[in-house]
Order: sequence, then structure tokens, then C-alpha cells
Amino acid sequence: MGNIRTVLGDISKDDVGNTMIHEHILFDIALPNTKSQDDKEIFLSNRWQVDYFSNQNSENASQKKISVAVEELEYFSEDGGSLIVDQTVFGLDRNPEGLAKVSKLAGVHIVAAAGCYTEPYLPESFLEMECEELIRHFVSEINFGLDGSRIRAGIIGEIGCSWPITSFEKRAIKAAAIAAKTTGTSLSIHPGRAYESCLQILDILETTGLNPNRVILCHMDRTFPDGQGIKELLKRGANVEWDFFGIEQSYYWMGNTELPNDYDRLRLIQKFADEGYIDQILISHDICTKTRMRSFGGHGYSHIVRNVPELIKRLGFENNMLKKLIYENPLNVLTLKEV
Ligand SMILES: [Zn+2]
Repeated sequence: MGNIRTVLGDISKDDVGNTMIHEHILFDIALPNTKSQDDKEIFLSNRWQVDYFSNQNSENASQKKISVAVEELEYFSEDGGSLIVDQTVFGLDRNPEGLAKVSKLAGVHIVAAAGCYTEPYLPESFLEMECEELIRHFVSEINFGLDGSRIRAGIIGEIGCSWPITSFEKRAIKAAAIAAKTTGTSLSIHPGRAYESCLQILDILETTGLNPNRVILCHMDRTFPDGQGIKELLKRGANVEWDFFGIEQSYYWMGNTELPNDYDRLRLIQKFADEGYIDQILISHDICTKTRMRSFGGHGYSHIVRNVPELIKRLGFENNMLKKLIYENPLNVLTLKEV
């Protein structure tokens, strides 16, 4: 044990450096059957506007080309990046064989994800699965392979939750937690867009006996934009994740929320660090649109590595903070636990 499970096999954590814990490399996040007539190709003249509305353009909401992914990961590597977790789960057009190819060609470690997204993305046959069946399914994605391949997942999730959480999603959370306990992986959860969502998720998780230090609650940025409500989650032992780094706009395309910017994120993180919770904090970009990639004029997977050190310096925060956030903490959650 003490290993991290990548798409090219298990590796020692000693062989890993800067890590982005929540990204998407090959994906399609457009809701099934929502391709609209207005979806335009992306040019320099419209990229800002397409980016502003983010995934509302289904052309922007997917990236399936191996060559583009390789180029993006080469930029990441040049900037000092080492490992990316692709949290593209079932429902988002996961492509494990593609990830293995990209990892080999770009020379960047990739961890793939077991699990499933929110109910509207899943086929009826999957929604009919009972808890026991889901547990077996997720365990086999970790131990044997994803989507019929021999490429194994090294994390479960992001498990998708709507708001209110559907009864299938409750079953999926429970099954994923038991699968995480059984296999020693950690569990990442995409909460619904509501203040109460994370608390309800933790209530469900507590019935399974999974240690909350193996749980990652994603998207603090849009769920608790001013930080109110996060301390409750930290007190209950879960890891919390600010994964909108690089999104510097206030307009949120998925709801009436004012998004924070990178300075706001770092100020909140420092506040919780001062209260003793630095070990429970993770950061990433959650890239899931083309316009956030370098090839389309975006910031790319290494914005945090390139630019956040200067922000931390200007804020006068401790400069070893970033090492915790993108090295020590993510490697802790990715290291498979003895079971
Ligand atoms: Zn994501």
C-alpha cells in the first residue's frame, strides 16, 4: 500500500509532485439531448462570450480529442505539474483508454474516477440498480477496470448530487461510500446547488462508517460563496475543495450566485487554515469547458502552479500554504488506504 492508482498502474506517492485533484481531461458535460441550434464553433471573436456562459454552449461543454488533451497536459508538465485527477465519471462520457493514451504521450500521471454523475445524465438501466449492485459495480471499477477496459480507477467520484437529492443519488452516495471503505480509495462528492446539500450528504455518509477524512466535498466556491457554512463541514471531519480557481468572473452560469475570485478563495482558505483546518483543504480548477484550456485562450491546468504563488505573496500568506494544497493534501487523499 502507500500507492496511488493511475491509469497506467499503481505508483508510489514519492514519484508524484504537484497535483490537481479535480479536473476533466476527456469529457462531455452537456446534458444528454440538449444540443442547441445556437451552439457555435469557438473563434477568437466569440470565445469570451462563450466562456462567460460556460457550458451553455454544448460545443464548449465537451473535449474528446486526444491531441488537444496531450497538448494541454504538456503545458501542465512544462509549468511543473505532475498528476491530474480526471473526475469524469459515468454519465460524462468517461474515456479510460483515452486517458491512458494521453498519460503515456504527455508524460503526466492521470488518476481516473469510478462512480456516476447526477440522475439526469444516467440511463434508465443504471438508475434501476439497487444499492448492493452499485457497490459491486463501483468496487469492480477500482479493482478490475472501467467501462469494460482493464484501466482501473484510483478515486470514486465526483458522485453527482442534484438538489433536492434524488432517491437514486442517495443510493449512489451510500454505495460509493461502502465501495470506498472496501477498496481504500477516497470519495469525492459534487453537492447540489443548495446550502443544505453538503450537510445532508454527510448525514448519509455517516450511516456507512466511512471515515470523513476520506471524503471530499467539491465546489465550495458556488455552494458557499462567502464561506458561511463551511466550518460545519470541517468540524465534521470532511475535506472541502475550492475547485473554481481561474474563474475570475462574478456571474455564475448555473444559478443566481455571485462567484468569488481567486483572491477571495485564498482569503477564505487562509481563514480556515488559521482556525486549524489546513489539512482538510483542497484546490483545483475543475476545467470542464474548452474555453478554460490554453488551446482555446484559457488559463489551462497549471494556472494554480503558475499564478497563485504571486497572489499568496501579495496577500502576505505563508508561502508553504500552496505545498499543502496541491501536494501534501491531495496525495494524502489519493493514497490507497490499507483495508
Ligand atoms: Zn468536476
